[in-house]
Amino acid sequence: MDSHIERILFTAEEVAQRVRELGAEISRDYAGKTPLVVGVLKGAVVFLADLVRVLDIPVEMDFIGAASYRNSTESSREVEVYLCPQVKGRDVLIVEDIVDTGWTLARLRKFLLEQGAASVRVCALLDKPSRRETPVEVEYCGFEIPDCFVVGYGLDYAQRYRNLPFIGVIGKTEE
Ligand code: 5GP
Repeated sequence: MDSHIERILFTAEEVAQRVRELGAEISRDYAGKTPLVVGVLKGAVVFLADLVRVLDIPVEMDFIGAASYRNSTESSREVEVYLCPQVKGRDVLIVEDIVDTGWTLARLRKFLLEQGAASVRVCALLDKPSRRETPVEVEYCGFEIPDCFVVGYGLDYAQRYRNLPFIGVIGKTEE
């Protein structure tokens, strides 16, 4: 185990089981449709790769890129979309690694509807509801977690740990 990981929150097996359950739910809800599954770069890449392989409906895959920063009043976050696929008329399923304050997903959902998406739903692997600053609907949620900083399964700390097969809580590092 990596020395900076304090504890494992969800093992690879626990994540895989939950991803299968989410896949079954999504496949049922989108039966007869071909949704555009849009992963939020970069954290959702690992989750998206596993999720699409347990869906038994036809899907298309693409990615969206967003950078967020506090605005001058510190009361909300600005979210700049730097990469967005063509979504006009599509049923879009946003796939996100984790919902924290909610600003990113709230902005992305609004942005995709403005771009002409026929529908937008959200699938997030993790959710920290106690950190929410703005309401955002998460139709498919893997696990609710307490307020701690997690890494692994796509999630990073300073671009590291994304390749860990489990989700762990990170402790203090010297870096
Ligand atoms: P929000 O806009 O909801 O505050 O931010 C969501 C983004 O914050 C996630 O996509 C992720 O990049 C980052 N984030 C929030 N909490 C964590 C965490 O515990 N670990 C990691 N690695 N990233 C997090």
